[in-house]
Amino acid sequence: MKIACDNIDRLVNVAIRPKGMPRSQMSDLYDLVKGENPISYDVAKAVLDQPGAKVGIFTGAAVPGHLPKGENDGPLGSIVLGRALQKLGYDVNIYTELENMEGTVAEAKLIGCEVPIIELERGPGAQHSRLSKELDIAFAIEKAGVNDFGVQHSVNGNSRKGTRAVIDDLIDTMTNSGKLTVGLGDGGNEIGFGKVFEKASDILPYGRECQCGCGGGIVTVTATTYLYPISVSNWGAYALTSALAIGAERPDIILEPEEEGEMLRLAIDLDLRDGGTGTAVFAVDGISGEASMGFVELLKEIVIVALTPYERDF
Ligand SMILES: [Zn+2]
Repeated sequence: MKIACDNIDRLVNVAIRPKGMPRSQMSDLYDLVKGENPISYDVAKAVLDQPGAKVGIFTGAAVPGHLPKGENDGPLGSIVLGRALQKLGYDVNIYTELENMEGTVAEAKLIGCEVPIIELERGPGAQHSRLSKELDIAFAIEKAGVNDFGVQHSVNGNSRKGTRAVIDDLIDTMTNSGKLTVGLGDGGNEIGFGKVFEKASDILPYGRECQCGCGGGIVTVTATTYLYPISVSNWGAYALTSALAIGAERPDIILEPEEEGEMLRLAIDLDLRDGGTGTAVFAVDGISGEASMGFVELLKEIVIVALTPYERDF
């Protein structure tokens, strides 16, 4: 499983996004935060150690005017991971802001994901404090976190304050009480990167100074038990799904390449946009839909090969 997870983590850090978006920085941060084992291995083990746990998946990155119904990166990963965890017997809910609900619900229906999708209040408030107590495990997938001035940012340094929920306190409370929290991100601005705050601030283009004038950079101060820096957040969620499939010996829970294609095509109709171009096209984070399907195909191969006995008798 470790070798397979190492390959999964290498694959998910192939930085093929367009110039101007973080590329090599994510794999540098991956290397920094990785312990003895591949991160996908550690996360899958930690999840599988808590069978039946109550899991919350937090996602959504809508921006008024630019991404009015949200981005396709984040929600798709969340429903794929959520579907897998539910099949493994976990009690899963997905939380996202009102703007992202329509797209996320429709995409979930498309792939037969029956995880409840619940409106995430902007909080912090009663819902957030209740969840911090009720949940055993939290995943934050492409979910912006605040910097040391309390401001959320886009990857290129624009303020996102007021556009989305602030769940930093919710995550901090869980992490500090010893619960498993996992941050998946591809920009450094997302929840989890507080774990590598100094290094991320040093190497990211707007790491020390944003463009909004708040006085800080884009890197969030919010850390998680595990941080999974990856090339595309959806890919990170698909990667963890694959690691879980190997760990649980359940290849039936993975995402099929055809499903990735169908989800990305439906995203165009739903106006769930590609974050790379800010338009509704067959792409994720500026990478073509065909390439993303290819990525899913390679992940699938890693899972199948890892779970298939092999003997060579010549
Ligand atoms: Zn700022």
